[in-house]
Amino acid sequence: MRYLNITGIILKKHNTGEQDQYVTIFSPTLGKIDARARGARKINSSFIGHLEILNICDFQLYKNQNHFTITQCQIRKSYKNIRETLNQSMLSFHLLEIFLKIAQSEENGDELFDLIAQTLEKIDQNQKNQLHIETFKIKMLDIAGALPNISRCGNCDIRWNQESMIHIDEEGHISCFDCSSGNQTLIPFNTMKLIHFIQQSPFDQIEKIAMNQQDKTILKKVMAIFLHNYISSELKTEKFIAHLHE
Ligand SMILES: [Zn+2]
Repeated sequence: MRYLNITGIILKKHNTGEQDQYVTIFSPTLGKIDARARGARKINSSFIGHLEILNICDFQLYKNQNHFTITQCQIRKSYKNIRETLNQSMLSFHLLEIFLKIAQSEENGDELFDLIAQTLEKIDQNQKNQLHIETFKIKMLDIAGALPNISRCGNCDIRWNQESMIHIDEEGHISCFDCSSGNQTLIPFNTMKLIHFIQQSPFDQIEKIAMNQQDKTILKKVMAIFLHNYISSELKTEKFIAHLHE
Protein backbone atom coordinates (compact mmCIF):
# COMPACT_ATOMS: atom_id res chain seq x y z
CA MET A 1 0.00 0.00 0.00
CA ARG A 2 1.51 3.32 -1.01
CA TYR A 3 0.95 6.77 -2.46
CA LEU A 4 2.16 7.69 -5.96
CA ASN A 5 2.35 11.01 -7.78
CA ILE A 6 1.92 10.85 -11.54
CA THR A 7 1.07 13.07 -14.49
CA GLY A 8 -1.35 11.52 -16.94
CA ILE A 9 -4.02 12.08 -19.54
CA ILE A 10 -7.62 10.96 -19.01
CA LEU A 11 -8.67 8.69 -21.88
CA LYS A 12 -11.96 7.27 -20.67
CA LYS A 13 -14.27 7.24 -17.70
CA HIS A 14 -17.39 5.51 -16.54
CA ASN A 15 -19.64 5.55 -13.52
CA THR A 16 -19.44 2.86 -10.89
CA GLY A 17 -21.22 2.29 -7.59
CA GLU A 18 -23.54 5.02 -6.40
CA GLN A 19 -21.25 8.01 -6.58
CA ASP A 20 -17.89 6.83 -7.89
CA GLN A 21 -16.19 6.93 -11.24
CA TYR A 22 -13.59 4.77 -12.92
CA VAL A 23 -11.08 6.75 -14.93
CA THR A 24 -8.66 5.32 -17.50
CA ILE A 25 -5.40 7.26 -17.36
CA PHE A 26 -2.25 6.99 -19.43
CA SER A 27 0.91 8.13 -17.70
CA PRO A 28 4.51 7.83 -18.93
CA THR A 29 5.54 5.97 -15.77
CA LEU A 30 2.65 3.50 -15.32
CA GLY A 31 1.26 3.15 -18.84
CA LYS A 32 -2.51 2.65 -19.04
CA ILE A 33 -4.26 2.18 -15.70
CA ASP A 34 -7.79 2.32 -14.31
CA ALA A 35 -8.23 4.32 -11.14
CA ARG A 36 -11.26 4.76 -8.94
CA ALA A 37 -12.37 8.23 -7.90
CA ARG A 38 -14.49 7.84 -4.78
CA GLY A 39 -17.45 10.17 -4.51
CA ALA A 40 -16.60 11.82 -7.85
CA ARG A 41 -20.29 12.25 -8.69
CA LYS A 42 -21.19 13.95 -5.41
CA ILE A 43 -22.31 17.51 -6.01
CA ASN A 44 -19.60 18.90 -3.73
CA SER A 45 -16.82 16.59 -4.86
CA SER A 46 -13.42 18.20 -5.35
CA PHE A 47 -13.08 16.12 -8.52
CA ILE A 48 -15.98 17.87 -10.30
CA GLY A 49 -14.74 19.48 -13.52
CA HIS A 50 -11.29 17.93 -13.13
CA LEU A 51 -11.82 14.34 -14.18
CA GLU A 52 -12.76 15.10 -17.77
CA ILE A 53 -11.66 13.10 -20.79
CA LEU A 54 -8.63 14.75 -22.54
CA ASN A 55 -7.50 16.59 -19.41
CA ILE A 56 -3.87 16.25 -18.46
CA CYS A 57 -3.64 16.20 -14.69
CA ASP A 58 -1.27 15.70 -11.81
CA PHE A 59 -2.69 12.86 -9.77
CA GLN A 60 -1.99 11.52 -6.36
CA LEU A 61 -2.90 7.85 -6.33
CA TYR A 62 -3.19 5.33 -3.58
CA LYS A 63 -2.09 1.88 -4.68
CA ASN A 64 -3.37 -1.24 -2.98
CA GLN A 65 -2.18 -4.40 -4.74
CA ASN A 66 -3.21 -3.70 -8.34
CA HIS A 67 -5.97 -1.25 -7.53
CA PHE A 68 -5.53 2.48 -7.81
CA THR A 69 -7.61 5.12 -6.07
CA ILE A 70 -7.34 8.79 -6.98
CA THR A 71 -6.81 10.82 -3.82
CA GLN A 72 -5.98 14.17 -5.44
CA CYS A 73 -6.22 15.64 -8.93
CA GLN A 74 -4.94 18.94 -10.27
CA ILE A 75 -5.53 20.01 -13.87
CA ARG A 76 -2.34 20.79 -15.74
CA LYS A 77 -3.82 21.18 -19.23
CA SER A 78 -7.38 21.34 -20.48
CA TYR A 79 -7.97 21.70 -24.21
CA LYS A 80 -10.57 24.46 -24.18
CA ASN A 81 -10.94 25.01 -27.94
CA ILE A 82 -11.35 21.30 -28.56
CA ARG A 83 -14.15 21.10 -26.01
CA GLU A 84 -16.00 24.01 -27.54
CA THR A 85 -15.89 22.81 -31.15
CA LEU A 86 -17.64 19.72 -32.45
CA ASN A 87 -15.20 19.00 -35.32
CA GLN A 88 -12.15 19.30 -33.11
CA SER A 89 -13.68 17.13 -30.40
CA MET A 90 -14.58 14.45 -32.92
CA LEU A 91 -11.02 14.42 -34.26
CA SER A 92 -9.69 14.20 -30.72
CA PHE A 93 -11.94 11.26 -29.86
CA HIS A 94 -10.61 9.55 -32.97
CA LEU A 95 -7.05 10.08 -31.69
CA LEU A 96 -8.01 8.75 -28.27
CA GLU A 97 -9.59 5.63 -29.74
CA ILE A 98 -6.40 4.83 -31.67
CA PHE A 99 -4.29 5.66 -28.63
CA LEU A 100 -6.35 3.40 -26.35
CA LYS A 101 -5.87 0.47 -28.72
CA ILE A 102 -2.11 0.87 -29.14
CA ALA A 103 -0.72 2.41 -25.95
CA GLN A 104 -0.76 -0.18 -23.17
CA SER A 105 2.23 -0.48 -20.89
CA GLU A 106 4.76 2.08 -19.72
CA GLU A 107 7.12 0.88 -22.46
CA ASN A 108 7.94 3.98 -24.58
CA GLY A 109 5.61 5.82 -22.18
CA ASP A 110 7.38 9.18 -22.48
CA GLU A 111 7.25 9.13 -26.26
CA LEU A 112 3.61 8.07 -26.38
CA PHE A 113 2.56 10.66 -23.83
CA ASP A 114 4.42 13.44 -25.67
CA LEU A 115 2.85 12.36 -28.94
CA ILE A 116 -0.76 12.48 -27.71
CA ALA A 117 -0.17 15.72 -25.78
CA GLN A 118 1.54 17.48 -28.69
CA THR A 119 -1.06 16.31 -31.21
CA LEU A 120 -3.94 17.52 -29.02
CA GLU A 121 -2.13 20.84 -28.66
CA LYS A 122 -2.12 21.16 -32.48
CA ILE A 123 -5.78 20.15 -32.81
CA ASP A 124 -6.57 22.71 -30.11
CA GLN A 125 -5.00 25.36 -32.36
CA ASN A 126 -7.11 24.01 -35.26
CA GLN A 127 -4.45 24.28 -37.95
CA LYS A 128 -3.52 21.60 -40.49
CA ASN A 129 -5.65 19.10 -38.60
CA GLN A 130 -5.37 16.37 -41.19
CA LEU A 131 -1.58 16.63 -41.31
CA HIS A 132 -1.45 16.25 -37.53
CA ILE A 133 -3.89 13.32 -37.49
CA GLU A 134 -1.84 11.42 -40.09
CA THR A 135 1.38 12.37 -38.28
CA PHE A 136 -0.10 10.91 -35.11
CA LYS A 137 -0.87 7.61 -36.88
CA ILE A 138 2.60 7.39 -38.45
CA LYS A 139 4.38 8.06 -35.16
CA MET A 140 2.04 5.82 -33.13
CA LEU A 141 2.70 2.87 -35.46
CA ASP A 142 6.39 3.67 -35.56
CA ILE A 143 6.66 3.64 -31.75
CA ALA A 144 4.72 0.34 -31.70
CA GLY A 145 7.21 -1.10 -34.23
CA ALA A 146 4.34 -1.61 -36.67
CA LEU A 147 5.29 0.77 -39.46
CA PRO A 148 6.72 -1.18 -42.41
CA ASN A 149 9.99 -0.10 -44.00
CA ILE A 150 8.89 2.87 -46.08
CA SER A 151 12.00 3.39 -48.20
CA ARG A 152 12.33 -0.05 -49.89
CA CYS A 153 10.45 -2.87 -51.57
CA GLY A 154 9.41 -5.31 -48.85
CA ASN A 155 10.27 -8.25 -51.10
CA CYS A 156 13.43 -7.54 -53.14
CA ASP A 157 14.72 -4.66 -50.96
CA ILE A 158 15.22 -2.26 -53.87
CA ARG A 159 15.33 1.40 -52.77
CA TRP A 160 12.67 3.77 -54.12
CA ASN A 161 13.44 6.61 -56.50
CA GLN A 162 11.33 9.10 -58.48
CA GLU A 163 10.65 6.49 -61.20
CA SER A 164 9.56 3.69 -58.86
CA MET A 165 6.12 2.14 -59.30
CA ILE A 166 5.30 1.53 -55.63
CA HIS A 167 2.44 -0.83 -54.83
CA ILE A 168 0.63 -1.51 -51.60
CA ASP A 169 -1.77 -4.40 -51.00
CA GLU A 170 -4.65 -4.71 -48.53
CA GLU A 171 -2.33 -6.30 -45.93
CA GLY A 172 -0.04 -3.27 -46.06
CA HIS A 173 2.83 -4.98 -47.92
CA ILE A 174 4.82 -2.54 -50.01
CA SER A 175 6.41 -3.79 -53.19
CA CYS A 176 7.94 -2.70 -56.48
CA PHE A 177 6.29 -3.30 -59.86
CA ASP A 178 8.17 -6.58 -60.44
CA CYS A 179 7.30 -8.01 -57.01
CA SER A 180 3.68 -6.89 -56.94
CA SER A 181 0.74 -9.13 -57.67
CA GLY A 182 -3.03 -9.11 -57.46
CA ASN A 183 -5.20 -6.40 -55.98
CA GLN A 184 -2.90 -3.47 -55.30
CA THR A 185 -2.89 0.29 -55.11
CA LEU A 186 -0.23 2.47 -56.69
CA ILE A 187 1.39 5.01 -54.34
CA PRO A 188 3.34 8.02 -55.59
CA PHE A 189 7.01 8.21 -54.55
CA ASN A 190 6.28 11.57 -52.91
CA THR A 191 3.79 9.99 -50.50
CA MET A 192 6.43 7.50 -49.35
CA LYS A 193 8.92 10.35 -49.01
CA LEU A 194 6.38 12.28 -46.97
CA ILE A 195 5.69 9.35 -44.59
CA HIS A 196 9.43 8.82 -44.19
CA PHE A 197 9.99 12.51 -43.45
CA ILE A 198 7.20 12.60 -40.87
CA GLN A 199 8.51 9.41 -39.23
CA GLN A 200 11.99 10.97 -38.82
CA SER A 201 11.13 14.58 -37.99
CA PRO A 202 10.10 16.57 -34.92
CA PHE A 203 6.78 18.45 -34.81
CA ASP A 204 8.23 21.88 -35.61
CA GLN A 205 9.58 20.51 -38.92
CA ILE A 206 6.41 18.60 -39.78
CA GLU A 207 4.31 21.68 -39.22
CA LYS A 208 5.91 23.35 -42.24
CA ILE A 209 4.67 20.67 -44.65
CA ALA A 210 2.09 21.88 -47.15
CA MET A 211 -0.14 19.14 -48.58
CA ASN A 212 -2.51 19.50 -51.50
CA GLN A 213 -5.83 17.65 -51.62
CA GLN A 214 -4.33 14.73 -53.55
CA ASP A 215 -1.47 14.31 -51.03
CA LYS A 216 -4.02 14.28 -48.22
CA THR A 217 -6.25 11.69 -49.87
CA ILE A 218 -3.42 9.27 -50.69
CA LEU A 219 -1.69 9.67 -47.34
CA LYS A 220 -4.98 9.02 -45.56
CA LYS A 221 -5.62 5.92 -47.65
CA VAL A 222 -2.14 4.45 -47.05
CA MET A 223 -2.25 5.13 -43.32
CA ALA A 224 -5.72 3.56 -43.06
CA ILE A 225 -4.30 0.34 -44.56
CA PHE A 226 -1.35 0.26 -42.11
CA LEU A 227 -3.52 1.12 -39.14
CA HIS A 228 -6.25 -1.43 -39.86
CA ASN A 229 -3.73 -4.20 -40.36
CA TYR A 230 -2.21 -3.44 -36.98
CA ILE A 231 -5.38 -2.81 -34.98
CA SER A 232 -7.48 -5.40 -36.85
CA SER A 233 -10.77 -4.18 -35.40
CA GLU A 234 -13.09 -1.43 -36.50
CA LEU A 235 -12.57 2.09 -35.21
CA LYS A 236 -15.93 3.42 -34.03
CA THR A 237 -14.94 7.05 -34.50
CA GLU A 238 -13.90 6.60 -38.11
CA LYS A 239 -17.31 7.01 -39.69
CA PHE A 240 -17.93 10.19 -37.69
CA ILE A 241 -14.83 11.92 -38.98
CA ALA A 242 -15.01 10.60 -42.55
CA HIS A 243 -16.78 13.71 -43.81
CA LEU A 244 -14.69 16.24 -41.89
CA HIS A 245 -12.39 18.58 -43.77
CA GLU A 246 -9.99 21.18 -42.54
ZN1 LIG B 1 10.63 -5.70 -55.37
